[in-house]
Amino acid sequence: MSDTGKVYLIGAGPGDPGLVTVRARALIELADVIVYDYLSNPKLLDWARADAERIYVGKSAGRHSIPQDEIEEILVAHAKKGRRVVRLKGGDPFVFGRGGEEIRELETDKIPYEIVPGVTAALATAAYAGIPLSHRDHSSAITFLTGHENPEKHTPSIHFSDYARTKGTLCIYMGIGQLPRIVEELKAGGMSGEMPVAIVEWATLNRQRSVFSTLDAIVADLEASGLGAPAIIVIGEVVAQRAKAEWFEGRPLYGKRVVVTRAREQAGQLTRMLHEQGADVIELPFISVEPHFDGQRVSEVLAGIAVYEWVIFTSANGVKHFFDLFHKAYDDIRCLGPMRIAAVGAATAREIEKHKLKVDLVPKQANADALAQELIENEGVESVQILVVTGNRNRESLVERLESDEGRAIVDTLPVYRTSKTDLSEDPAAARFRREGADAVLFTSASTVKSFVDQHAALTLGAGARKPAFGSIGPLTTKTLKERKLPVAFEAAQASLEHFVVETIAHLNNMKSQP
Ligand code: SAH
Repeated sequence: MSDTGKVYLIGAGPGDPGLVTVRARALIELADVIVYDYLSNPKLLDWARADAERIYVGKSAGRHSIPQDEIEEILVAHAKKGRRVVRLKGGDPFVFGRGGEEIRELETDKIPYEIVPGVTAALATAAYAGIPLSHRDHSSAITFLTGHENPEKHTPSIHFSDYARTKGTLCIYMGIGQLPRIVEELKAGGMSGEMPVAIVEWATLNRQRSVFSTLDAIVADLEASGLGAPAIIVIGEVVAQRAKAEWFEGRPLYGKRVVVTRAREQAGQLTRMLHEQGADVIELPFISVEPHFDGQRVSEVLAGIAVYEWVIFTSANGVKHFFDLFHKAYDDIRCLGPMRIAAVGAATAREIEKHKLKVDLVPKQANADALAQELIENEGVESVQILVVTGNRNRESLVERLESDEGRAIVDTLPVYRTSKTDLSEDPAAARFRREGADAVLFTSASTVKSFVDQHAALTLGAGARKPAFGSIGPLTTKTLKERKLPVAFEAAQASLEHFVVETIAHLNNMKSQP
């Protein structure tokens, strides 16, 4: 075995993370280094190890993409250090992805590599816009073309007139900026002005948009639609054969942009539910959570863990980080001892149950005061040793109450994580919200309202951004919104995520859509 690592050239698919291969996911999970660009969805990085190095080589605001030879140098340099390097490329690496150049470089440097294909944009566009690319009666050939030749080489462009009479389907990548020339050349080559044309932008993502037209009208229709890159142009009789039911663009929240807040336990679930209904979801990360603890203190507490009669968890994050530490120290769950377990709310309790542990107490109201009250009144905690596992905030009142004359418990706290306010001025999701706005902002708790108000400066909408309606999950959240003088456009009939989604659909479909 050599010490050289390996490079995995992986097709990241067209955007929707559900469309990458099982092999791609397994390799992302194992990677030491991930090199990715503009068209590979950054969500794929969520599968990577926390300590994997992430290197962005695409273009971003105010910056050109990193030149191809530098990208190749990055791949080689990391592989030579013995690392597993994943190179994620939008779509398929060998379809207009410069995969050929990258493997040539790897071969020159004798770096082992593997290639994993991906769903290329033309195929994704066809499926998600319902256009059959081949059809027994209308198309027996499918051609992939690029409108935009490699700008670093001065090779002559394709003559589109050569493709005017293929009797098949043309799929044109990177063609938006060249559309007038493409149309002209196809017509010069004999293609009818009546030929159906489709253009699909951001295919497979909920922000997908499409325009259907004919060769004669497409330039004007594209301009009127405001679509831009990345987009695929599909030209051929098959465009007229497209599916009647719009399985993707026909979903109830399709075309609606909805903001939810991240870093709360429920956020992932709400995002998934909205996403399934077709919404373009922006997740604003108001707070970030990271492990944070005093190693000495953790060792002491874990060494004496069996002395505690109760262990209280104040959040799902606390549960996660506590068990990470516990499993590093012990390989036997019985080392927890005969403790009883309390959780502040249902989400925290669910996280504990993942470890096959029963939760002995969850207060009827999900807050720390209610928990202290129930412990003191129903269980009696005088001289009882209690461990409170927390973050860096909101634990004082719980501990004070248990230790007060009311309770007289002996309480130790173990902070295992830290939450801090995210700097939204730099965050890409917040930048998109400022630029494009949204149809709705969904508030799932009073604290999400407070964060939103608190981060007001970083959330000021630009000119032309959609102005969102504010939705509330229930009466308590509504009250906080009103206190902060934010107008409540709709409230869920019952305070659950399911009802909230139903209400969001109802509200956004009765509204006239804004620009
Ligand atoms: N290797 C990629 C193509 C890279 S070239 C693949 O196999 O798909 C970049 C071009 O791909 C874009 O300009 C656009 O034409 C197309 N493209 C990539 N992702 C797309 C998407 N989600 N929707 C529409 N077009 C996309």
